[in-house]
Amino acid sequence: MKPLALFGGTFDPVHLGHLSVAWEASELLDAEVRLMPANVPPHRNAPTATPAQRVAMLNAALQGQGRLTLDTRELRREGPSYTIDTLRELRGELGDRPLILLLGADAFAGLPSWQSWRELFEYAHIGVLSRPGIDAAWSVDLALEILPRRVTDPRLLHELPAGKMIELAVTPLEISATRIRELLAEGRDPRYLLPCGLFDDPSVLAPYRAKDKR
Ligand code: ATP
Repeated sequence: MKPLALFGGTFDPVHLGHLSVAWEASELLDAEVRLMPANVPPHRNAPTATPAQRVAMLNAALQGQGRLTLDTRELRREGPSYTIDTLRELRGELGDRPLILLLGADAFAGLPSWQSWRELFEYAHIGVLSRPGIDAAWSVDLALEILPRRVTDPRLLHELPAGKMIELAVTPLEISATRIRELLAEGRDPRYLLPCGLFDDPSVLAPYRAKDKR
């Protein structure tokens, strides 16, 4: 069975950087990829859009293709979205099916600040997606943890349920939700940084527009 890859994030809003790297990861890994919006991300400020608004944007973004799907389990859970809890829950459902946690290079560099971060490897492999324009230096702790886990052949991730790390060189797209929120707040129209479905209904991007520009 193909591995299941999870791509978590705030998706505030989902942008073409997310979609492109998730798509390429599914090709490179030959895996089913699910986008998984976080409820209350433990590492950062609360999102601008509500969970329902973020799900609506993700649904609009995923229209017209079948390779990337949505997993809203973290939004249904009370409290902070700790990835370790999500992976434990999924492992209970998946048996020995390989599970891959996809992280952008910036998120991966911050891994040692996550709850029970070393334990994540008991439940999943980690796939690190290259991301331009960010500082993604690894701490010594992270580098040592990765040393025995690093592989370069994606087929190895099909043979084990968890425990390996692979770096995926995806097409670099210097797009961030922060920049998109800034552009929208300035009254700009970042049309080709976002999936076109987000422009069908003007109320979808309204949470990001400065009030006097709405
Ligand atoms: P923000 O600017 O609000 O921090 P973001 O653009 O980084 O948002 P998130 O929803 O926080 O988006 O990211 C979810 C995941 O997607 C993270 O693992 C992040 O590293 C990754 N990611 C986001 N944008 C890109 C990109 N352009 N290339 C590669 N990975 C990305």
